[in-house]
Amino acid sequence: MHHIFQRHCHSELPIAVKGEGVYIYDQTGKSYLDASGGAAVSCLGHSHPVVRAALHQQIDQLAYAHTGFFNTEKAIELSEKLTHAAPGDLNHVYFLTGGSEAVESALKLARQYFVEKGELQRSQFISRKQSYHGNTLGALAVGGNELRRKPFAPLLMPTEHISACFAYHGKDASESAFDYGQRMANELETRLLEVGPETVIAFIAEPVVGATAGAVTAEEGYFKRIREICDQYGILLILDEVMCGMGRTGTLFAHEQEDIQADIVTIAKGLGAGYQPIGAMIASSEIHNTISQGSGFFQHGHTYMGHATAIAGALAVINAFEQEALLPRVQQAGEILQNRLSECFKNHPFVGDVRGRGLFRALEIVADRDSKKPFSACSKLDSQIKAKAMELGLICYPMSGTIDGKNGHHVLLAPPFIISDAQIDELTEKLFHSVDTITQ
Ligand code: PMP
Repeated sequence: MHHIFQRHCHSELPIAVKGEGVYIYDQTGKSYLDASGGAAVSCLGHSHPVVRAALHQQIDQLAYAHTGFFNTEKAIELSEKLTHAAPGDLNHVYFLTGGSEAVESALKLARQYFVEKGELQRSQFISRKQSYHGNTLGALAVGGNELRRKPFAPLLMPTEHISACFAYHGKDASESAFDYGQRMANELETRLLEVGPETVIAFIAEPVVGATAGAVTAEEGYFKRIREICDQYGILLILDEVMCGMGRTGTLFAHEQEDIQADIVTIAKGLGAGYQPIGAMIASSEIHNTISQGSGFFQHGHTYMGHATAIAGALAVINAFEQEALLPRVQQAGEILQNRLSECFKNHPFVGDVRGRGLFRALEIVADRDSKKPFSACSKLDSQIKAKAMELGLICYPMSGTIDGKNGHHVLLAPPFIISDAQIDELTEKLFHSVDTITQ
């Protein structure tokens, strides 16, 4: 007997047979509004004609040429577009096949940078509690999610964790938002001094936290303070934009809105938009030059990196952003979505917060709206909401988890950028009925 080894071994999943715009259709012809773009992937919706044509054309012309032997014009063009938009001197793009690979590469690049500088004592990372940076062993090691780490401990790389900047759970009532952000950022300095800043390679964080906390933006000034601390102690800043990047928050890179420069940035999901697996790591000239003037090359590589077909698809995606003026639409549609959700859930007993940026939004699910007391982490709210949503023809991304030791549940939304106002209404209504299924 054969069996597909799925992520969720017990669930009976429908068979997906077709995608069109914001909808996916199953084997019975039932449609599902893809309000989470899978996991913040399908930013252009399904079956986008221009991306399809670009992929067909590339496969017909040249599907693959190993990057050890060839460059391709489209890879050069895509790198130029990415580095042009990236703040600071992030001038060197390394194409990979997904988010974990991009993060894994960033960790290795950061380590090699210090090796080239002779700072061999730098061997550990700092990230935030509850963070997620991917599922390969290195990326998992820098993530702060205890549940995910536990089965694989001891992990490969030593990592220290500081609190996430998550006002919803952590801010004192008497404290201003700015002061709270500074207090959270200053935890980085405290931890550095505890472990010895000369032993640390980098701090890694998502500019807008995605799946683990539900579209959480940092308080104004938080990332500026983080940057200052990294500079003061000579450690690198790696920003993981695998989920929040590629226009999801209204600018190509989410950290453009934080007014800071990173040393390394990772992107994936929206870069392929679901049409082909691709990720990228973008590094500063300082890192690149140090390595090229030292041992000469980055000791890393994957067979499918810079895959010609994947690159052609990603270039078509980024061109579609420009040609269809999608990033301004993300900002506009994001506001509409926020307003509709706030209105619809304003009296809902189990919705404690509606938040996010651009088309990256979330509902915080709580047991008590006034005290914001969360449901127990082990309650099955996420599967209940997901099952009801699927029944109603809605794909959303409910998650449970603990935030800095406290329980929490949220529903993440990351719809395609092409979603219409009428489809935002449909999303909101179906989501309302899905959340209304909570009975505890
Ligand atoms: N970093 C972040 C912030 C992510 O959200 C994810 C995926 N959810 C990853 C890394 C890993 O990406 P992938 O699943 O493509 O390996």
